[in-house]
Amino acid sequence: MTAALPTPAKHVPERTCAACRRKRPQSEFLRVTRVGGKWDVRAGNRVGRGAYVCADTPECWQEKRLRRAFRAQAAEIAEQLQNHQKDPNQNHSAPDARVSPEVSHV
Ligand SMILES: [Zn+2]
Repeated sequence: MTAALPTPAKHVPERTCAACRRKRPQSEFLRVTRVGGKWDVRAGNRVGRGAYVCADTPECWQEKRLRRAFRAQAAEIAEQLQNHQKDPNQNHSAPDARVSPEVSHV
């Protein structure tokens, strides 16, 4: 005999996207965490305050859509979200790798 365990049958925690305000299951978001007074995109680390941005919607990674939530850091977060998508295993890879000045004189 086991005591009746409280089984949350189908409780999917919903979050709201900081950019488009859509509600979705938490697993479909990228989490932006506020640590030490700064926002930072990091996976799986549930510390501090969190904000969520659609993981599969590039429109939600644009600075102008993030400004409402992240204010002065919107550009930084936009860049982090875009880098995160390209390289999910290396959050802090060399940021200048994606800046490739194409000098072509044709
Ligand atoms: Zn969104």
